Amino acid sequence: MKPTIRRIQQKVGVTADGIIGPRTLSAISRALRIPETPPAPAWPTQSEVRRGTSRFGRPGNEELLTSVTPPYPLLYEGSPVRSIRVHSAIALHVQQALREVLAHYGAEEIHRLGLDLYGGCYNYRPTSGGGALSMHAWGIALDFSPDANAYSYQSPRASLSRPECEAWWQIWESHGAVSLGRERNYDWMHLQFARLS
Ligand SMILES: [Zn+2]
Repeated sequence: MKPTIRRIQQKVGVTADGIIGPRTLSAISRALRIPETPPAPAWPTQSEVRRGTSRFGRPGNEELLTSVTPPYPLLYEGSPVRSIRVHSAIALHVQQALREVLAHYGAEEIHRLGLDLYGGCYNYRPTSGGGALSMHAWGIALDFSPDANAYSYQSPRASLSRPECEAWWQIWESHGAVSLGRERNYDWMHLQFARLS
């Protein structure tokens, strides 16, 4: 398969690394003149979410959650995770982003980079900084590789801040998710489907 992928990549003018990532997919779409994946929806801002009137509804409403089966094995505190519970409005994006991560990195690299270490999604609690409710209270935030990306770790100490994780973030960002690490250089484990402002 790989030589074929490389030939296609050469043809569409991207690096011929044999990996079908977001850049290759978008170059193929352009070459074939088919519409690219629609732009990510403009998710509400955090303050809109906290008002409780956004599409995500009120916090702590478990009826709005749904289960997503991860396309590659995830571990939560060392135990395999069969499904993760997220807000139904982001479920397809979470599933698709994880599929893209698998296509880009492959299982071995996912494991090496700790992208299979799941830190949780829905949790009715305030932010780690205290005070306001966390986006986790709506099931619209996910944490990954929590031990190597503790709240106060900055780049380059936080493992998810490293260059190998660039594609990880590009994939999530293409679905409109926001990384606190990329935006504010703390809490690198965290991504959320709400804009900061
Ligand atoms: Zn978080």
